[in-house]
Amino acid sequence: MLWTGDGGEAIRSDLVMFEGGWMELQKVEVAHAADRVAGQLGQTVAADRELAITVADGGCNPAIFSILSPLWGLSDEEVFLEVYGGPVTFARIEDEIAGGVAETRLAGEGQICYDDDVFTASKEWFLGWGQQNVAHELTHGLAQRGGWGEQNWRAYEVLEATWVANPNFPRRNDREGNHGFAGVFPRWQQSTLLTANEEFADMGVGWTFNQWQDHPAGTARSDWMTANLPRIIALAVSGP
Ligand SMILES: [Zn+2]
Repeated sequence: MLWTGDGGEAIRSDLVMFEGGWMELQKVEVAHAADRVAGQLGQTVAADRELAITVADGGCNPAIFSILSPLWGLSDEEVFLEVYGGPVTFARIEDEIAGGVAETRLAGEGQICYDDDVFTASKEWFLGWGQQNVAHELTHGLAQRGGWGEQNWRAYEVLEATWVANPNFPRRNDREGNHGFAGVFPRWQQSTLLTANEEFADMGVGWTFNQWQDHPAGTARSDWMTANLPRIIALAVSGP
C-alpha cells in the first residue's frame, strides 16, 4: 500500500493495514514506525548470525549456534512478517480503551486497536509521538506473539525475573524520572504504569529508535534488549 503524508511525502508499506477511518498522515506515521521496527528486527537477526559465525569459527555449521537461524537471509520486512504472522492491522474502534488510547491484541490473530480519542485530538498529537506509541504497541505485540495462553507473555516474565535476580536493574517508580528511558511520559515513555508489561513495551520504544537515557540505567536497558531479544523474537516466530 502507498500513503502520502501532509508534506506530500509518500511511503509504501506491506507491513501494516488499516480498519476504520484513519487520516492519511496517521497511516504514514504508523508505516514509518513499523519500518523502524522491521529494521531493528532485521538488525537483531544479522547480529545474531554474526555472533554464531564467530562462535563456529570456520568449524561446524554456524546455524546450530543461533536460535534465529531460520530467519537468516530474510529481508527486514520478511522478518517482520514472520514475527507478526503477516501484516499488522491497526483498527479504529468505537469502544473506549480503559487506561489509554491503544491496546494490542495480537495473541494469535488480532489487531492493534485505537479508540476515537486518537482521531478527535489534534493531528499534532499523533504527529508528535505517534511513532513512539506505535513502537510501544508493536512491542506488546512481539511479547504477545511469543506468549503462552491469554495471560502468560514470556517477554514480560523475563523482565520480571531480571528484577528478582538483580534488584538494581532500572525500574520505573514514578512518572517524573527517566529511569533509563530517553525521556519522560508521554514521549519516550508511553505508559506510567509500573508493570513489566508496560516497561517492556517502553523499552521497545528505546530499542526501535535507539534512544536511551545517557546514563548507566539507559545502557542497562539497552543491553537487556540486545541480550534477550533473540529469544523473544524466536518465541514470537514459533508462536504460543
Ligand atoms: Zn502499553
